Order: sequence, then C-alpha cells, then structure tokens
Amino acid sequence: MGDIATVLYSELEILHRVRELGRDLSRFYAGKSPVLISVLKGGFVFLADLIRAMDVPARVDFMSISRYHSASGTTGVVRVLKDLDQDIGGEDVLVVEDIIDTGLTLSYLLTTLQAREPASIEVCTLLDKSVRRIAPLHIRFTGFDCPDRFVVGYGLDVAERYRNLPFILEVADQALLAEDPSALDAFLPASTGDAR
Ligand code: 5GP
Repeated sequence: MGDIATVLYSELEILHRVRELGRDLSRFYAGKSPVLISVLKGGFVFLADLIRAMDVPARVDFMSISRYHSASGTTGVVRVLKDLDQDIGGEDVLVVEDIIDTGLTLSYLLTTLQAREPASIEVCTLLDKSVRRIAPLHIRFTGFDCPDRFVVGYGLDVAERYRNLPFILEVADQALLAEDPSALDAFLPASTGDAR
C-alpha cells in the first residue's frame, strides 16, 4: 500500500489546522456575515468543516466550473457551469479552495467575481502548491504549504474517486493509479458495520 501512496496530512492534523483557520477567520470577519464561496467539487469537504469552525454568521454559495486545457496543461480559462445563487455586490466574499496549483483557475475566477463589486474578496485554501504558482495571487489564509506532489483525499479526487478519504494522500506512483483506478481502495475507511 505504501508503494503507491502515503499519508501526507493525517485526519488529526487537518482537524487541528481547520480549527485554527476557523478561529483566524472568525477574528477577521468579526461583526460581519461573509459569503463563503466553494468551487465544486473539490472544496466541499473543507468548506463543511471550515464553516463549523467559525463563530460568525457565515453564508455559503457554490459555483461549478469547467477548465479549458491546452497541450501544456490548464489555461486558467474557465466556463461557469453553475453560477452563484446570490448577488455578491457589497458583500464580504471568501473563496474557499481545496488546492491552488498554478493559480491560473483561481486568478481567472477572482477577476470574474471582482467585476461583481463585492465589498471585499479574500481566499482561503487548504493546500497551496506555492512552488508551482504561475499567476501571482494574494492568498490570505492557507492551511498547508503543499509539496509538488499529486494529492488525493479530503475532497480531492482521482477520476471522481477517493473524495471521502478523511486524510490526504501523496501519490507516489501516478502511472500505477492511471492503470488501476481502484488502486487506493485499501485506504478507504474500513466498514465496521456499526452506524456511526
Ligand atoms: P490551478 O489552476 O491552480 O493550476 O488548478 C487547481 C486545480 O487543479 C484544483 O482545484 C484541483 O482541481 C486540481 N489539482 C491541482 N493539483 C492537484 C492535486 O495534487 N490533486 C488533485 N486531486 N487535484 C489537483
């Protein structure tokens, strides 16, 4: 099991860091009611934990986008598949991301959201692969500065699988995973049969 992937951030490490972020965000938004925007699908697990670690009356909205890829990778150009339900004009907006890699997607998205004239706009990401950054971004809240590895779990997928892993794995052998999409099944939480 260790050949293909190893735990990079444990469930407990994530829990502690999310609680710290929740405290920081509660201080930052004291007296306000920020709108937390999650970009589907990867960010939903982090968002669910983060919002429960905050003690301000936060609101939630979701966006779904598709990315355009060129031969050299992501272009950052996105198409909005599902837009926000609410108008964010005059609101304090916090974009909650699972992971920022080149930053191209987020950079494009921020420009789109900025045009709607929110009162403020900040970013909170669980993972930041800062060494891969192409688009310059100001990220005010970061969970972990992540090494340049392919990571899976806690919302992050491989071909739509493994979002339900309670920890984050670092994949050592991506080729093996591409060959066998169920290669990480042994990491899934064991079914104990009791209803927790
Ligand atoms: P960016 O535009 O910053 O290069 O792309 C960020 C997006 O790429 C993330 O929202 C995520 O969907 C995907 N991504 C980047 N790195 C990883 C990774 O290590 N694992 C997974 N599962 N997705 C990643």
